[in-house]
Amino acid sequence: MNKEKAIKELEDEITNCKKCELCETRIKPLTDRGNLDAEVMLIGEAPGYHEDLTGRAFIGKAGEILNKLLNSINLAREDTYITSIVKCKPPHNNDPTDEQINACKPYLDRQISIIQPKVLVPLGRFACAFVFEKYGLRKERISEAHGKTYTVNSLFGCIKIIPQYHPSVAGYNANMMSTLLEDFKAFKRAIS
Ligand code: URA
Ligand code: SF4
Repeated sequence: MNKEKAIKELEDEITNCKKCELCETRIKPLTDRGNLDAEVMLIGEAPGYHEDLTGRAFIGKAGEILNKLLNSINLAREDTYITSIVKCKPPHNNDPTDEQINACKPYLDRQISIIQPKVLVPLGRFACAFVFEKYGLRKERISEAHGKTYTVNSLFGCIKIIPQYHPSVAGYNANMMSTLLEDFKAFKRAIS
């Protein structure tokens, strides 16, 4: 099956998904496409207010910060594939629960197998925990792992994992922006 068809099928399933209670309060699940031939896949946490209204990834405040970070390393957003750990907005922007993450993660597993990225960039602790567990890496806090590069083998070749703090942290702690900018520089070096 080609990528386009496989992703379309997945999007249809996500649109109709009722596997966890977030389906009761969401407006639109995240079915943003991104670039199907992307080498870099960014994995966020969950849709927020603006993402819920549109089904698009990172278009609110955290998205503005992410755009700045991507611009700082001349990586075009259109050249990446962006998704999240859970596809539906948690009410009150609560952290996603283990049950919600477990219900939703098969979609992310499938996105990874379809897109076959060479670089995975988990944004924040939930995405980092998912990726580390998936590839058998020893658990690390995001405060230890951020900006480092881990290389793992997958069914479709070598993948670099480069965890980052979630961009929203810079929204409530301005000092974090300089850490994120430094970590994105390291990310750029790792993929150059
Ligand atoms: N936070 C995320 O993790 N993803 C989004 O799309 C928006 C905010
Ligand atoms: Fe389905 Fe994921 Fe939405 Fe839960 S968060 S309803 S598992 S798409």
